[in-house]
Amino acid sequence: MVHVAVIGAYGSAGAAVAGELADEPDVELTLVDDGDPGGGLCILRGCMPSKEVLSAAAHRYRARVDDRLVGAPPDVDLEAVVERKDDHTLDWAAHRRAGVEGYAERDDVTFLRGTARFVDGHTLAVGDRTVEPDYVVVATGSSVNVPDLPGIEDVDYLTSADVLDATAFPDSAVVMGFGYIGMELVPYVAEAGGTDVTVVEHDERPLDEADPAFGDALLDVYERDFTVDVRRNSYEQRVEPTADGGVRLHLDGPDGAETVEAEALYLFTGRTPTLAGLGLENTPLSPGEGWVEPTLQARDAPHVFVPGDANGREQILHVAKEEGFTTAENVLRHARGEDLVEYHPTHHHVVFAGLGVYPYARVGHSVASAEAAGVDHVAVSRRAADDGVFKSKDAADGLATLVVDPDDGTVLGWQGLHYHADVMAKTMQVAVEMGLDARALPDRAYHPTTPEILDGLFRAAVEELEG
Ligand SMILES: Cc1cc2nc3c(=O)[nH]c(=O)nc-3n(C[C@H](O)[C@H](O)[C@H](O)COP(=O)(O)OP(=O)(O)OC[C@H]3O[C@@H](n4cnc5c(N)ncnc54)[C@H](O)[C@@H]3O)c2cc1C
Repeated sequence: MVHVAVIGAYGSAGAAVAGELADEPDVELTLVDDGDPGGGLCILRGCMPSKEVLSAAAHRYRARVDDRLVGAPPDVDLEAVVERKDDHTLDWAAHRRAGVEGYAERDDVTFLRGTARFVDGHTLAVGDRTVEPDYVVVATGSSVNVPDLPGIEDVDYLTSADVLDATAFPDSAVVMGFGYIGMELVPYVAEAGGTDVTVVEHDERPLDEADPAFGDALLDVYERDFTVDVRRNSYEQRVEPTADGGVRLHLDGPDGAETVEAEALYLFTGRTPTLAGLGLENTPLSPGEGWVEPTLQARDAPHVFVPGDANGREQILHVAKEEGFTTAENVLRHARGEDLVEYHPTHHHVVFAGLGVYPYARVGHSVASAEAAGVDHVAVSRRAADDGVFKSKDAADGLATLVVDPDDGTVLGWQGLHYHADVMAKTMQVAVEMGLDARALPDRAYHPTTPEILDGLFRAAVEELEG
């Protein structure tokens, strides 16, 4: 019998490990979580509630920019938005808890509600219990990353969790952090809150994973439709409170020193693994670059596996789940003395930019990543405005790019920043992950639907391939 303890069993990664191992006949499982109410980040404060609140503001946005509609755009009833979001998330969270706690009805599975801590390399304390498992899965997720900026401890700041619960917004705000959380929540704060938003962008454009035209298209929409003031190539130097209770952020911008004053500061500065309080100092584990192998095994402790946000690699839901599945498989492999498998996901991201009206999605290679990897490729692009269907649906911004192998036509990658790009990610996942030949793909979307842009890309790629 192999005894496995999972710390963070309510989360997406921990629940995936638990689900895989609960029915294994030779595994004893101890599941631990201290969540209050418990249900994991994605359900309670991540993927799901963020899309829920965005949807309300998206309705207002679409009505506001459509000049065929007359009258003032409706206000977003923030109390109603938060109430409905809470109803849904608490329901989904209860479902997750019931599923995880349900495993404990089986023989050899125990659920402990509490905070786990390593007492030594092999012993965990949970309240007044101690557990000595053969394997420990650390699936403790992530916490808000507060940047090490002079003055940050002297000012109040708000985070993504505050935005999801907000029933009032400031008149003005300055935003640090323009990764996917910032790109999703900035338009929400502007649209639902009516807030004047200034964003600090370290580079020329956001969307580092995308080819440059996509970041430029996103900025065009944010500046035009949400009047967001994006300070490009700017770095925060220090922050201080103002006499009227706001903040003053000092920047080093392209033209030298500048300041931004606002009523509130939002930190969308990413997330850092939740490892504090775990007693890692009592173990050989030393978090940092390379501390978790592609097998999800900790480099310095072969009996410890770290899936999900806790390993700090790629903090998104499907990766957390798939890392959980790989962890379960590798725990069993390790116990049997077999080689471990590595987890190398195909690049697969969706950013619900522009309130989800103009999402960005990428599957597989961008042009830049194909070049960097030395992969032979041809690339074709198409503007959404070139397809009548996007105009007819009043969402003509954005573009898409397809990357294919010049020899055998294999689809290597796709990016879209346009209406419905999020739902096209699945189609393109099938094309990329199954290595389909662009020449063999059916040239037929139902007319008029937005996947006509994919047909346009496939046709353009075939023309390139056939010279
Ligand atoms: C605003 C926002 C929007 C997001 N949107 C998306 C999206 O659209 N798509 C997407 O793919 N991803 C999104 N994400 C990311 C996604 O939510 C996370 O990648 C995912 O939820 C991480 O799952 P996890 O299992 O690693 O961690 P979690 O779900 O956080 O689980 C960790 C669990 O560990 C428990 N725990 C921690 N420490 C201990 C301890 N010492 N003892 C016992 N229990 C402990 C916690 O209570 C928690 O239940 C978003 C995140 C945010 C913040």
